[in-house]
Amino acid sequence: MRIQSIFKEDSVTVSLEIFPPKPEIPIENVTPAIRTLAKTNPSYISVTYGAGGGNTANALEVASMVQNELDTTVLAHLTCIGATKPRIHTILDTFKEKNIQNVLALRGDLPNADFDKDSMEFRYAYELIREIKAYGDFCVGGACYPEGHVEAPNKEKDIDNLRYKVEAGVDFLVSQLFFDNNMFYSFLYRLAAKGIDVPVVAGIMPVTSANSIKRMCALSGATLTPKFLAMMDKFGDKPKALSQAGIAYATEQIIDLISNGVRRIHIYTMNKPEIACPILENISHILG
Ligand code: FAD
Repeated sequence: MRIQSIFKEDSVTVSLEIFPPKPEIPIENVTPAIRTLAKTNPSYISVTYGAGGGNTANALEVASMVQNELDTTVLAHLTCIGATKPRIHTILDTFKEKNIQNVLALRGDLPNADFDKDSMEFRYAYELIREIKAYGDFCVGGACYPEGHVEAPNKEKDIDNLRYKVEAGVDFLVSQLFFDNNMFYSFLYRLAAKGIDVPVVAGIMPVTSANSIKRMCALSGATLTPKFLAMMDKFGDKPKALSQAGIAYATEQIIDLISNGVRRIHIYTMNKPEIACPILENISHILG
């Protein structure tokens, strides 16, 4: 099913994210976790894709498994930095063969600060979005950043750059993780003020370990709230307590979002049913 059709419905949607195993690891290693996540009946499951395309085979296999074996709508991520148009066309042909209709079109992180992106066939995600739309009948999503992308000079300029994605035909946007819902609400107001009215999905990352959060925050630039920092201080060295607190924090964020009218929620589940399932259980009556 196309995600834009799913978003036409009024009910709250909750999607989950998984990542394929590294090339040297067989996908059977992650299959049980993915099956468990699919059984929770998410609106769709997104499958990440490594920047530079070093893990394309596993990403395609996992995306196809979700779509065709688990009968769950898949959103296949695709990055373009360093890719050529023929390479992108080959992957899109495979998506068509595997009945994958939804693509999250991303640039991917630059390999290093001196990387000369201007010599690349694709410099920005909007160029990939334009290419995918021209090549086939795909439903295409793009990334957005409530606190601004780390390379953008400021939040306003980053939103101005989002316009390129909208003009290229993006059907929806998925947000970077955030821990302060007010950042997301203020982002939605700023998008509306600039006339950007495609659906925006709120990305929620439950805390799974102190190290992973430090890494994610360095990459994403997400602000840590005092409440979040207190939780990390208190439970950072107690993994089970931290994951319990992280589940509660993410649940609270999601309930606040839904209470304030946000209907599209994406949980960065990181192949962890033990984190995703309790959150979904906590909001089961809220979702109806
Ligand atoms: P872009 O939209 O190209 O933006 C990159 C920077 O360029 C921004 O600062 C933007 O303001 C600026 N910019 C955009 N257009 C222009 C323009 N026309 N002129 C000047 N500046 C411009 N990475 C992966 O490798 N694999 C994944 O699976 C993956 N999934 C992700 C999922 C989500 C929901 C999100 C939010 C991120 C994901 N990422 C993933 C990370 C993403 O690839 C990085 O954040 C990357 O640095 C930017 O990607 P983008 O698609 O937003 O790029």
